Amino acid sequence: MKTIIEPFKIKSVEPIQFTTVEQRERILSEAGYNPFLIRAADVLIDLLTDSGTSAMSARQWAGMMDGDESYAGARSFYRFESTARELTGFTHIIPTHQGRAAEKILFTLTGGAGKIIPNNTHFDTTRANVEYSGATAVDLPCKESRDPAAVSDFKGNMDLEALETLIMDKGKGNIPLIMLTVTNNAGGGQPVSMSNIIGARKISKKYGIPLFLDACRFAENAWFIKLREKGYAEKSVKSIAMEMFSHFDGCTMSGKKDALVNMGGFIAFNDGQLAQNARNILIVTEGFPTYGGLSGRDLEAMAQGLEEVLDEHYLTYRIRSVGYLGEKLTAAGIPLLQPPGGHAVYIDARSFAGHLTPDAFPGQSIVCELYRLGGIRTVEIGGVMFGRTDPGTGKFIPPPMDLVRLAIPRRVYTQSHIDYVIEVVVEAWEGRKDLPGYEITYEAPMLRHFTARFRPLNG
Ligand SMILES: *Cc1c(COP(=O)(O)O)cnc(C)c1O
Repeated sequence: MKTIIEPFKIKSVEPIQFTTVEQRERILSEAGYNPFLIRAADVLIDLLTDSGTSAMSARQWAGMMDGDESYAGARSFYRFESTARELTGFTHIIPTHQGRAAEKILFTLTGGAGKIIPNNTHFDTTRANVEYSGATAVDLPCKESRDPAAVSDFKGNMDLEALETLIMDKGKGNIPLIMLTVTNNAGGGQPVSMSNIIGARKISKKYGIPLFLDACRFAENAWFIKLREKGYAEKSVKSIAMEMFSHFDGCTMSGKKDALVNMGGFIAFNDGQLAQNARNILIVTEGFPTYGGLSGRDLEAMAQGLEEVLDEHYLTYRIRSVGYLGEKLTAAGIPLLQPPGGHAVYIDARSFAGHLTPDAFPGQSIVCELYRLGGIRTVEIGGVMFGRTDPGTGKFIPPPMDLVRLAIPRRVYTQSHIDYVIEVVVEAWEGRKDLPGYEITYEAPMLRHFTARFRPLNG
């Protein structure tokens, strides 16, 4: 087979800034060793997130100029609504300014003290919104996901037996909805199979509990189903995506992922009463229901993006470019969460920096080193993001894994950028024995990873 190439040519470019190791050491220290606090201008290759970092297409930009900025009933809303409705099949489509605004509305309506929300794995903002409502977020990842090195097709699946046990233990009246996240972002960007979705649907029907989709990466998930699940190879990715949505009662969506926009999102329902209640909250917190915190131009770009993301040349390139990075790092002996995810490669930080205990934040240490060595910004998904302190004993409770995520923005970097990233990660791997541990010197009460400050230990 011939090389899979970027299925676009570049019309507009943005220069990136080169810095020296010495400059980056100073920048890191000033930023409290937290890459969220580094200025983007000081980053060479930014793999912090794939969220809102997509390059928009010429057609999306054309849509921006064509946006209807009327307060109510804008043409751009109706274009967006019909595109999202055709794709998802949901009756009520409500725009929000991004995914977490959709989550805030959903859990304001359904959460609250005593309620339990199961998910294959909650993303950080989803968990925060569940907990903020007073409810408890429970992760039920499948058993295959526990071994980071094991290669398996659908490690994003939910453990359906555990789901049924949870419902029986806690009582279906305490579980307002079941959520599935595709792909499973916090669990390594791993896909969820159609059969797992159908299994979750059966349980949801059996107990009369609504099933909601966190649809952020629906197109990448549909592409994995096409590649890996029996019976789907000949189906179009759009029909697979539509089939996925057909099993749910509603969804939350961050347009900053698979709608290829820099800002936007939506929440969708079949239930008219829930939708009405959601619109009432939306008006207080986001805006009128035909714009929901967005400009008309944003709605145009999101409608166009929802169509472009299903292009199979795009998805071939997208998934292959992440796979390429994963294969090269694996070949160098670097421990990764296997197989590479749809939008990111995850380094298994506990194996990479085996001399550091989880309470010394091995993931944070690797993140700092990748920036120091090569100006690459990545993010820790481990003890900093999800670790807890036991209120009784004051002891640190680490999450199951410490990962470093290298998230690939959509349509932004070329293969030579990725080759450079590989060289830097390999250099960090060769010097891994000297990686220092870190301690936290400041943390916020919620979502602490965004603003925490650190100090290297013995350094
Ligand atoms: C990004 C993301 C969200 C939140 O969306 P924002 O647009 O960042 O608010 C929710 N769930 C998942 C799986 C995500 O990746």
